[in-house]
Amino acid sequence: MINKIQPSVHQLHFKEFGSTVYLIQIDNQNILIDTSSKENQQELLNDLKQLNLNPDDINIIIITHKHWDHNRNNNLFENAKVFDFKNIDNLPLKQFKIFKVPGHSKDSLAFLYNGILFSGDTLFHNGIGRTDLPESEPEKMEESLNKLKSLDYKILCPGHI
Ligand SMILES: [Zn+2]
Repeated sequence: MINKIQPSVHQLHFKEFGSTVYLIQIDNQNILIDTSSKENQQELLNDLKQLNLNPDDINIIIITHKHWDHNRNNNLFENAKVFDFKNIDNLPLKQFKIFKVPGHSKDSLAFLYNGILFSGDTLFHNGIGRTDLPESEPEKMEESLNKLKSLDYKILCPGHI
């Protein structure tokens, strides 16, 4: 299902379990935030097709963190450069503010763009991310949530809706 969040931002939400994907189109670039689970591969491709995009049109993939339900379709996008916790400082998008928010996982990221907070699995509409997973850093979650709470955003776009 495709929801238009802003003229340049679409939310792609799927039937099977897996992260919600966001498509952001700025500066002639097609950017995906997360790529969901394998189970949602066909639906992801169909949604992009409806938005007149081929897999090759995706230039940049940003991964909020490396859990399996967020990154299993990266390989579909052969022209995309993938950014995650390790290389996020090289992200060539000045419009994005990047926040490292360990807690749910050590490598969790959040992004602020045009009044929208992309919060991955750190903050949801009705709660916060789990911190009892093997990759979690529970002692850092509160600080990360406080960081996000202090931000001036109008729309929350989490990794699961
Ligand atoms: Zn996760």
